[in-house]
Formats: sequence, C-alpha cells, structure tokens
Amino acid sequence: AFDESGKIWFNGKLVDWKDANIHVLSHVVHYGSSVFEGIRCYNTKKGPAVFRLQDHLQRLLNSGKIYRMDIPYTVEELSQATMDTIKANKLKECYIRPIAFRGYSELGVYPRNCPVETVIAAWGWGQYLGEEALENGVDLGVSTWRRMAPDTMPNMAKAGSNYMNSQLAKMESVMNGYDEAIMLDYQGMVSEGSGENIFLVKDEVLYTPPVSSSLLGGITRDSIMEIARDMGLEVREETLPREMLYIADEVFLTGTAAELTPIRSIDKITVGEGKRGEITKKLQETFFKVLNCEVEDEKGWLSFVDE
Ligand code: PMP
Repeated sequence: AFDESGKIWFNGKLVDWKDANIHVLSHVVHYGSSVFEGIRCYNTKKGPAVFRLQDHLQRLLNSGKIYRMDIPYTVEELSQATMDTIKANKLKECYIRPIAFRGYSELGVYPRNCPVETVIAAWGWGQYLGEEALENGVDLGVSTWRRMAPDTMPNMAKAGSNYMNSQLAKMESVMNGYDEAIMLDYQGMVSEGSGENIFLVKDEVLYTPPVSSSLLGGITRDSIMEIARDMGLEVREETLPREMLYIADEVFLTGTAAELTPIRSIDKITVGEGKRGEITKKLQETFFKVLNCEVEDEKGWLSFVDE
C-alpha cells in the first residue's frame, strides 16, 4: 500500500507524495510514451539491499534509447537517486518504480516540445501472486492475445504501452479463473507471462524461450540462468511449442514482482506432479539465499542502502 506521507523523486528533487503530479494533457497520458522499471529492495541479513540496481537502470536507459527518449541522467545518478528515495521513505524492503515519460507541452503524436520527465517512487509491496503461490504454485492459461510481433512494438523495451498487451492477457486469464496468462509469440511459440518470463524443466534440462520470441529479457530470468548453470544444470534458450509446457516435468515464472513462482497447471492440464518440483525448489532456495545475503554476493548483485 502507498504511504502518502512519503517522498517521490521527481526530475532531480524529492517532493511530497501529493505534489508528484502531471497535467492531464501530458503526452504520456494520450500516447503511452513511457519507459519504466520494477526493482526490489530486500531487507537482507546484512541490511537493506537493492537487487541488480545498475542492470535495471541500464535497461531503463536502453528502453529510452529505443524510443528516442533522452533520459537526462546516468546510471550512477539514477542509482544515487534510488538510494535517496528509499532512505527518504524510511523503507527497508520495498518495490522501486523508476519511470521516464514525455510530459506536457502540446499534443500530437510527434512529441515536438514535450519534456522527458523522470520519476522514482518506492513503496512496500508483498508477493505479487500471493504468499502461498511461492510454495504451492499457480494456475495459468494460454492467452488468446499474443505478444507483439517484432516489427510492431519493441518487446525489449520495458515501455508502458506494452502493458496494454499485458493487460488484455492478464484480464482474460483472471476472467477465465487463472492466476496469470502465458502469451505466445507471433509465430505461435511460447513467449512470456503478462509480467514474467517462463522456464520449464524437462529431463533435468532447463529451457526458456530466447529474446527472439518477443519477450522482455528479464533480469530475474538472467539471474536464474546463471544460478542454474552454477548448480551444474544444462540451460537452453530455445523456441518452445506450447505443448512442451504440458509435458514438462516442472514449469515456473520469474520476475521482479513474481520472484520465482512455480506453476502447477496450464490450461487445466496438471504440470508434473501438480506442485513445486525439486529443481524449481532448489533454484528458488538458492535465489532467496542470494536475495537475503545468506550466501556470498559473488556476482555483486546487491547494492546496499547505507543507513
Ligand atoms: N516480462 C515482462 C513482460 C515483464 O513485465 C517483466 C517484469 N519486468 C518480466 C518479463 C520479468 O523481468 P524482470 O525479471 O527484469 O523483472
């Protein structure tokens, strides 16, 4: 929930929560011109730390670059601003939302004089798909909505407008009684969830679709692939037909919000034993140890919030 007594970083300054406003005629409101990030800060054993902060902020700048949107800050500046925002809100564990968008000047698709505005907000947030989902898993349905074809919208940009596609898939899945949607790509191959990447385990090999399957290259996805390789698992980025999901031994979702959530059924077909599988459990445990700083942070994935 939002703590409205907090502060939001707005174009270089921390302002009161209620003053972090934009005009209704801002370009972004009409044409969806925003790029953003979702990052988590964990209250680890060694104090609050942000997971892969630089990688998230670099992806934000990359998303801006794709859309010819000049975000006037460096990764270092945004990193400092993120830390300042966390501290100003006295948070130990939170979700962080940096966003850059085209602001208010005049209207028309061509963003002539609209300034690029940059915001960082942070607030407390629990488990995205429910606390018990991490253990028991969730039920998914393949959406009738597909991920954008590569020559329509850039899937590698984490842009606000992409989430119109995600909303369609998510709303349809909820209407149909599922927890989350799986989307196929323009060729009908498995792509990703509305806000998560997908993995499957088959005969002790870990598979996930490649970025060419119209997906967002998730930072959690990347982390899980590294952790899996470190554990000696074979990892393959391969295009996957939908039916591979049905006959997989284990399937799970990854994302900053969903963390690593097991899937127990897809299209009402039970996956494996219909509960969190052994490899999923091992990956999840190792991942949570990293997030909680219970193991050495060898990869430098944690940025500690100095208190
Ligand atoms: N795909 C989509 C469409 C997403 O919105 C997200 C969440 N950012 C992901 C995948 C997972 O990315 P990450 O692990 O970087 O959060």
